[in-house]
Amino acid sequence: MPELPEVETTLRGIESYILNKKITSFIVREASLRWAVPTKLIKSKLLNNSFSNITRRGKYLLLESRNENLIIHLGMSGSLRIAENRDLKKHDHIDICFEDDTTLRYCDPRRFGCFLWTDNPEFHFLLKDLGPEPLGNSFSGEHLFKQSRKRKMPIKNFIMNSKIVVGVGNIYASEALFAAGIRPSYKAGRVTRKKYDLLAQEIVRLLRKSIEQGGTTLRDFVSGNNQPGYFKQSLMVYGREGEECYICDSTIKGLRIGQRASAYCPTCQVSL
Ligand SMILES: [Zn+2]
Repeated sequence: MPELPEVETTLRGIESYILNKKITSFIVREASLRWAVPTKLIKSKLLNNSFSNITRRGKYLLLESRNENLIIHLGMSGSLRIAENRDLKKHDHIDICFEDDTTLRYCDPRRFGCFLWTDNPEFHFLLKDLGPEPLGNSFSGEHLFKQSRKRKMPIKNFIMNSKIVVGVGNIYASEALFAAGIRPSYKAGRVTRKKYDLLAQEIVRLLRKSIEQGGTTLRDFVSGNNQPGYFKQSLMVYGREGEECYICDSTIKGLRIGQRASAYCPTCQVSL
């Protein structure tokens, strides 16, 4: 699943190709994404206009045009790319074409992504309840500590909750908990302030590192400018159940928290 670094990488990859260019067509071959694509509305807003800015909120891309925004989410398996030719691949559901023949193409095999339109992103139902950006100024150990008091949910679910902080998916949650030495199943309300400071630092460090490298190793990801989206980030626990811990040689254990596969080192990640 594309996580925050992949979305940020996509933003950086596509913006120079599409900003301030006149949009000549909006083609939807498959409108049934997670929510039906409002094709007519988006077409009427985009045709003969251009995108003046692209920003990211959590894992949502906001493409601004005349003070309104196209909201794009990549879902479980979506990707945006600058298409070099007219050859369509299976699952290439949407094209936005520009005056210079550049095409921004959306591919999404599992169709959990979205293309929606809003004139006020702050109050849009997908965006209004989102917590702070992990790479922004209002995210800190103190924020996590305050939000977590009296919460019994596992710490891993807590940091993956987008109302608490956006964009911390399974990979980064697993890896940050390893780096901070906290078991994923530990109750959020019992984690100390000191540990939260460390955890917040690790979340930021891992996301930054991954953005620098252009995203993690994700089969489905294609970065915006057609560079390979496969970057070998050394994952310490994610996807390594049954293998040896790189730090202490213990066997990495797997467990399910909620619906998600989790992994941890029983030695490096104590129950506090
Ligand atoms: Zn270990």
